Formats: sequence, structure tokens, C-alpha cells
Amino acid sequence: MNLLVGTCFHAGIESLLKGASVETAVYIAVSIEFWPLAKSKGLMLESAEDASYVYYEQAALIEALIRGYATFVLPQLLERFTVVEVEKEEIGRFEIPGFVLNFGARVDGLLLEKDSLDLFVLSLKTAKEWSKKDDEGARHDMQGLSETRVVEQRLGRWQKIWDSYDSFNKTTALSIEMSYGFNGIPQWFYVRASTGAPPTVSGVLMQYALKGRREESPKGSGRYTFANPLIRPWKKADDLGRGNSYAFRYEFKDEMGENHRLGKGWNRVNIWEDMGVKKWIEYLATNEVQGFPPMTALAGQFVLPIEYFRNLEDMEEWEEETIYQEQEIAEGLEKLKTVTNKEWMSTLRKYFRKQTRSCDWPTKCSFQNICFGPKAYLHDPISSGLYEIRVANHPTEVESNAKT
Ligand code: SF4
Repeated sequence: MNLLVGTCFHAGIESLLKGASVETAVYIAVSIEFWPLAKSKGLMLESAEDASYVYYEQAALIEALIRGYATFVLPQLLERFTVVEVEKEEIGRFEIPGFVLNFGARVDGLLLEKDSLDLFVLSLKTAKEWSKKDDEGARHDMQGLSETRVVEQRLGRWQKIWDSYDSFNKTTALSIEMSYGFNGIPQWFYVRASTGAPPTVSGVLMQYALKGRREESPKGSGRYTFANPLIRPWKKADDLGRGNSYAFRYEFKDEMGENHRLGKGWNRVNIWEDMGVKKWIEYLATNEVQGFPPMTALAGQFVLPIEYFRNLEDMEEWEEETIYQEQEIAEGLEKLKTVTNKEWMSTLRKYFRKQTRSCDWPTKCSFQNICFGPKAYLHDPISSGLYEIRVANHPTEVESNAKT
């Protein structure tokens, strides 16, 4: 479920970053991505859960996060940056003697800061919640290092081409009024290179969309709902039945700093069955709710830390460590193809050690049956019916596999 929500959210944001309207982004994420996948593959749920409820709740969550992003996050982003690339697939090539690593990357976005012409990799994530621990983790995020390294490798190639141009070609490259102009290199790169800016990425801009916690509701029922005010706010009908009030926080402080709680008569509602997600997000964007200014509830569901800067030493270290790690994996795979049945288990243990820190957190690992279940799962996972061979779905991966 988490993977599906993340994938669909990304699909919607991808179209927003490419300039589509919010209605198109929601349509792509919910109707094109979510429903066909949810219907064909289903979701892994606890036994007492109401599948139909969960499906509609997840569809509402994806829609709410996309509408919230379009309303609260995107305008700020576009004020400071130009989005020059979105979800670009590429392969970084890292080499040591005797081993080449083709490293696939797909950066959510590449941002050009309007004032400084500095470049930033955009990294979007959906998360349950946000804490200091997450902030610290983001500073050491490997994905930010790997993506930056792959993008910089390409920028370096482009820079060499720019440096090789004589003044006639430089003028031609700068004058072509196309997004993809001279020699297949986009004009923004030439404009930037002509100022003497180096072909480097300054840092990573991370953005988190918070889904909220899944809580058992009612307690002991075995059914779970998301505690996210963008889809499950509180509602109270006024005593005379003349209208409704909505709230996005159960506990809150007023402007004098006094603590309050919603009183009797307030109940959680599924907003997709009430006024609808679209109207609710518009309402939160334009109305004061519980005495808080418009946008407060939307702002609470997105965490936008300042950019994290990556230094060259960290990236070189990542590259070297990754090459050695992948070399060991490639070697292990080759060995498994040739060893006798007797040696198979010890080869597996030597090259593919269990990383048990991740078995149950942040979510239950899907491979627990193979690692800790009956040996039959390990020796023939496909026959168990629980697993299938992964099909390469990134064009660069398909291409790279075809070559090897
Ligand atoms: S269950 Fe998952 S996380 Fe745990 S050792 Fe196996 S593959 Fe690794």
C-alpha cells in the first residue's frame, strides 16, 4: 500500500512539474495509476480490514496530497526555481579496473535557482510523519548522493562539449530558441555555462508529503484508518441543523496560547463521502479554520526543509563503496550459478548476508517468508505463489540489460 501511494503521488507530481493542471495530475495519479493497479494487484491488508474502504481512502489520500502540493508547495517552488528536468531516466557509469557499474537513476526533478543559477536535485518523498530523526537521516541520505553524482556525470559531458565550441558555435548554441537545442543539449545549460558556472549540483532539495499514522479504529476492531486531516477532519453539525463546522486539529491553542480540545458532537468524517476532497482542499486554502489562517492545515502536511548540501568527498566515498558492494554482489551471483548443491547455502550466506535490522521496520519486509519461513520458500520462491520475477520497468534498465 505504501509503495502504491508513493508511486501514484509521484505520477501526479510529475505531471504538475511538467506544467499540467491539478485536475490532470489527479486524473493521472488516481484514475490512470491507482485504480487499475489496485484492482489488478490488490493491496496487502490485515484480515479484518474492509478492502473497499481502504481503496477509497487511499485514492482520497493520493488526491488530497496532490491537491495540497499544487496549492501550497508548488507556487513557492516555482517562485524560486525553474524546473528544468522532470523524472529523467539516466545511467551513470562508474568503473574500477575489471568492473563497470551501470547505475540507473531517475531524479524527481532538476531545479535551476533563478537568482544564482545554482542547480538542485529535487527529491520527493511520502512519509508517515516527520521528526528530528528524519531530518538527521535526510542529511545522510544515499539517494541524494547517488542522484547528484549521476546528474553531475552528465553535466560534465555537456560541459566538455561546451568547452570544445569555438565562439561561432557558442553563439549558435545560445541563440537557439528551443528547449532542446544545439546537439541535443538544452539551452538552459548553455546559458548557465556561458556565465562560467561549473557543471555541478549544489545540493538536494527534499520535500516530504505526510500521510499521517494508520490507527486502529475503532480500537480492537482490526480495521485501520489514516489520521490525516486532509481526508479525515472533524465535523460538527450546528445545534439547530443550519450548517456544519469543520476542524483539522483535535487539540489546538488559540491566539492567546490557551489549550483547547474539540468538545462533544465533533466526529471524524471521511471527506470523500462528505464535501469531496477537491472542495475540502479549496476550503482549507481559502478559509480560516479553528481561528487559524487559510493554508495552515495544508502547511502542516508538507515538510520542506532547507536544501542539504553535498560535498565532493561524500560523493566520491559513496561511489567507491557502491562499486565495491555491487562488485561483490555480481561475484556472488556468478558463484551461485556454478556451485554444487552442497556449497549453495554457504555461498548464499557468504555473499548475501541477512540485514536483519530492516526485517520489521519501518514496515514488515515482504521477504520474511524466504528468509525465515520453510526452506521451500528459499529454494523455490516462485512455486510458493507469493513472488514473481521482477520485470525491468525503467527504459534505461531494459536497454542496459539488453547490452549485457
Ligand atoms: S526479511 Fe527482508 S530485511 Fe530481513 S533479512 Fe530477509 S530480506 Fe533482509
